Amino acid sequence: MIIENLDMIEKNILTACATSGRKRDEITLIAVSKTKPVSMLEEVYSTGIRDFGENKVQELSDKFEILPKDIKWHMIGHLQTNKVKYLMDKAYLIHSVDSLKLAKEIEKQAEKANRIVDILIEVNIAEEESKFGLAKEEVLALIKEISLFPHIRIKGLMTIAPYVENPEDNRLYFRQIKQLSVDIDSQNIDNVSMNILSMGMSGDYMVAIEEGATMIRVGTSIFGERVYTNI
Ligand SMILES: *Cc1c(COP(=O)(O)O)cnc(C)c1O
Repeated sequence: MIIENLDMIEKNILTACATSGRKRDEITLIAVSKTKPVSMLEEVYSTGIRDFGENKVQELSDKFEILPKDIKWHMIGHLQTNKVKYLMDKAYLIHSVDSLKLAKEIEKQAEKANRIVDILIEVNIAEEESKFGLAKEEVLALIKEISLFPHIRIKGLMTIAPYVENPEDNRLYFRQIKQLSVDIDSQNIDNVSMNILSMGMSGDYMVAIEEGATMIRVGTSIFGERVYTNI
């Protein structure tokens, strides 16, 4: 089933690229594997996919230990400062930085580990109460502060758009994120690039690609519905 799902998604990505005049190699598909067993990740890996997304540090660490080392692990979930240290040698990109406090801890741990950590700034573009991320108006100020940290590189923006029945309803939000990234890029801040836009999930990745996404985070459409148990 996973192989068929991936075929379908690949076709959809190509269609969205054709519609918007973009190239396939501008877009990275991140397989969001949270709650899914290693055997399913191995199946996805066997098709050539190397980017996987997890939202919990513990789960990412466990899978990191078991699976091949050429996987790029994307931390896409809300991150607590006390967990940052466990990610230093594992995360390829942290998508969910939304406070100075968190950035300070990443800087501290990155310095200790003697490495540079790539991050995205999470924007709550629809200003939903239930979601993490900065309001659009707060983004530039935080980026300016974080840009001074020598062990962090800001690579772009991430957003989780609202859950909608019709993906067209999110087009405006994706467009706003793209515009925000262009505005920030035009400021030419040291240490800051806006090459990555992480937006679009199972329900709306085609629209996100049409509006400029460079990373799409797809879980359900690859792996099927997630089942959460209370253990
Ligand atoms: C779970 C999750 C996804 C994937 O969502 P699907 O609707 O299953 O594709 C994408 N991004 C984040 C941040 C997530 O937590």
